[in-house]
Amino acid sequence: MSVEPRARLDLVRPVIAGIQPYVPAENPELLAERLGWPVEKLVKLDANENVYGPSPRVQAALGQYARYHIYPDPEQVATRRAVATYLGVPPEWVLLGAGSDEWIHLLTMVYIDPGDEVIDFAPSFAMYPIYSGLMNAKMVWVPRDADFQIDVEAGLRAVTDRTKIIFVATPNNPTGTPTSREVILRLLETGRIVVVDEAYAEFASQTMVPDIGEHANLIVLRTFSKWAGLAGLRAGVVVAQESVLANLWKIKSPFNLNSAAGMAVRESLTDVEYLRDCVRKVVAERARMAAALSRLDFLKVYPSEGNFLYVEVTRGDAATITRQLAEHGVAVRHFGGPPRIVQGLRITVGKPEHTDALVAALRAVAPA
Ligand code: PMP
Repeated sequence: MSVEPRARLDLVRPVIAGIQPYVPAENPELLAERLGWPVEKLVKLDANENVYGPSPRVQAALGQYARYHIYPDPEQVATRRAVATYLGVPPEWVLLGAGSDEWIHLLTMVYIDPGDEVIDFAPSFAMYPIYSGLMNAKMVWVPRDADFQIDVEAGLRAVTDRTKIIFVATPNNPTGTPTSREVILRLLETGRIVVVDEAYAEFASQTMVPDIGEHANLIVLRTFSKWAGLAGLRAGVVVAQESVLANLWKIKSPFNLNSAAGMAVRESLTDVEYLRDCVRKVVAERARMAAALSRLDFLKVYPSEGNFLYVEVTRGDAATITRQLAEHGVAVRHFGGPPRIVQGLRITVGKPEHTDALVAALRAVAPA
């Protein structure tokens, strides 16, 4: 009988034991298998993906490309140029990587020494505490108000000598809440690094990108996962002044933007009108879906500027409803915590027929 070698858990950094891992949405293949359905039949509204998919030009370019055996350009010259033009900034202010997640990770590496503080307006995106925790940061949670707006006075009071980063997702995930430019400018006055995560900016009405020139402590994150439908390829952007990016250049892995993702970004940016048209459809459907969900007497719908809606289950149990919807082939996102959002559901805006299927399934599972 062979003896399994024992994992040397004593060698693992203690901070890893304390990390609450990211809990992903349910695996769609497994759900489809359980239902005996092809995966395409699922109404997948659980990960804020773009139901319209990428530009058709992306698909064509990926199939034709003949240089996959060559390493990607570590300096991302062509892609940075294209993104800079799209955003209206110099290419020196732009860097791409494997999703904006990568930039959240690397920014914590650049700024956080053990015991440094990170301000997070809770509830917000789960990756901020995960990556900050990995660097032994102290998380300082500043609760959002009843409408999930940032309490800027509380945020300013929370700043100490050890505050390094203030994270602001706008629109916020999971609540869809935008944060005004005025509030962000006040946070910038603290002189701390303000990371404005604009993953959903194309579905919203505001961006802080034009303010970067005036503020060396402003770092904006953008992504091609949502508006451009490239979630599976991983393409995220960090935008900041050149001196800020210099530190990220030092620590990023050389080939962090793979050839396919870089090409997909460039092709997408030749087809912006097509993509904006899809965004417009999602924004129109967001309003129709909000109205439809508001008519269900066990849901409270919050205003959202993302490609998703946050709803609170006011009768019944959100976790149970999520499981029941899955049995109807409709996947929505439920979060185990923090307590403030355990009765919440985050539901991606899809096509009109997805909304109709969602509403029908919600009616079928409506709690007594
Ligand atoms: N920030 C926010 C606020 C998000 O919601 C997401 C995606 N869930 C991300 C960042 C990460 O996006 P990606 O890594 O796909 O660019």
